[in-house]
Amino acid sequence: MVSYKGYEPVIGVEVHVELRTSEKAFCRCSAEYGGDPDSKCCPVCLGMPGATPSLNPEAHRLAVLTGLALGCKIERVSRFDRKHYFYPDLPKGYQITQFYDPLCRDGAVTFELDGVRRTVGIERIHLEEDAGKLSYKGDKLSIDNNRCGVPLAEIVTRPHMRSADEAMAFVDELRRILLFAGVSDCKMNEGSLRCDVNVSVRPVGSETPGVRCEIKNINSINFIGRAVDAELVRQTDLILSGGTVEVQTRRFNEDTLKTEYMRKKEKTADYRYIREPEIPAVITDEAYVESVRREMPPLPAKREEELRNIGIKAESAKLICSLPKLADYFDLVKKETSDAVTAANLFVSEIIPVMRRGEPCVPPEYLARCADMFAAGDVNIVSARTSLRLSLEEGISPHTAAERHGLFVLKDEGLIKEMIEKACASNEKTVAQIRAGKVSAKKVIIGGVMKLSSGRAEPRLLSRLVDEFFE
Ligand SMILES: [Zn+2]
Repeated sequence: MVSYKGYEPVIGVEVHVELRTSEKAFCRCSAEYGGDPDSKCCPVCLGMPGATPSLNPEAHRLAVLTGLALGCKIERVSRFDRKHYFYPDLPKGYQITQFYDPLCRDGAVTFELDGVRRTVGIERIHLEEDAGKLSYKGDKLSIDNNRCGVPLAEIVTRPHMRSADEAMAFVDELRRILLFAGVSDCKMNEGSLRCDVNVSVRPVGSETPGVRCEIKNINSINFIGRAVDAELVRQTDLILSGGTVEVQTRRFNEDTLKTEYMRKKEKTADYRYIREPEIPAVITDEAYVESVRREMPPLPAKREEELRNIGIKAESAKLICSLPKLADYFDLVKKETSDAVTAANLFVSEIIPVMRRGEPCVPPEYLARCADMFAAGDVNIVSARTSLRLSLEEGISPHTAAERHGLFVLKDEGLIKEMIEKACASNEKTVAQIRAGKVSAKKVIIGGVMKLSSGRAEPRLLSRLVDEFFE
């Protein structure tokens, strides 16, 4: 929904993304997901007195890479702060984060929505540590501290989005960029990418910002859209009935598809931020930034454009560049084949569904050879698909499949001539019509031969031989 009763939403997003390091942000504990509760903890990530945290260089590098992938300026000097609050998943009583001097500022994400290019500004990205994980079983609350200290990049956008669709498209594109950059596995269901959405409403056309509410920890892109629309309706109805919107932190209820009150939003002062005394300022010099930039994998929008530039349909290019594993596979195919466009069509129709299901797939060379067979006129497109399917099922090359199952185009003149005679013999009326000058009736004979050859007769050769037959 774009507007409701004359009001529109103004949306900003905060995304927490777990950086793909092997160790935690400030200690050497494993950052791997899962394991027995509290099996990956030490005095540093649990905040015992006297513990000394030090920054994991890999977390720093991935945060810089995140900033570069999102077009940010990387600050030469950034610093860590302590954000104090009490919650059962935070044994330290404070979180190490970057409040005053974040690592990255002023980036942007550009994407297309309904054929229109949109840009959402990134205000800042800071490096921080994750908290533990709480789970409720009945009336019992259990705490697992394994996630305490896992490095996070918090990405804060400017309030540039104006609809649920736009917010969803933004998070989708952001997720794609982060996946291709290799900074995180971005699994929303495992919590390695989490979204808080800020929503306020204002009359359409007004420039005055409304009072915003924050909806915490939304764990799917679809729910982001639902939460935005639910808030648009709730806040607008509240204003129109004479009420006032309060600054609140809310949660999205996945069953009712509505947002619920959690707490009044804390003021910044409530966190009593202080400089983290144990970790020195982080210096990120230009040479280091350039070395990270040089190693940055190509980003999806660029790869998509390259595919379009060689004639691949826009929707296929988008699908191929939806996941790194698909794009990387197709890259290998592209290098091997003389017909990348056909290879892309075959990839989209036959291979991508298999890869998406996580099933075993043919090597890229097989797909390349299959497209080559089509380009050389050895198989038609239907047989190309069939031989690829058989290749998947039987683990043989498409060429062997075409040979074994008789899928090659028929180019044998003698054989085709025999079939023409056969087709004529069973269509005497048509033959008479053709002889009487009704040229268009030739297509009946051509159809007959196609039937006799199971669709494999080479069409141009067949058409020439039929012409010759009636000369
Ligand atoms: Zn630790």
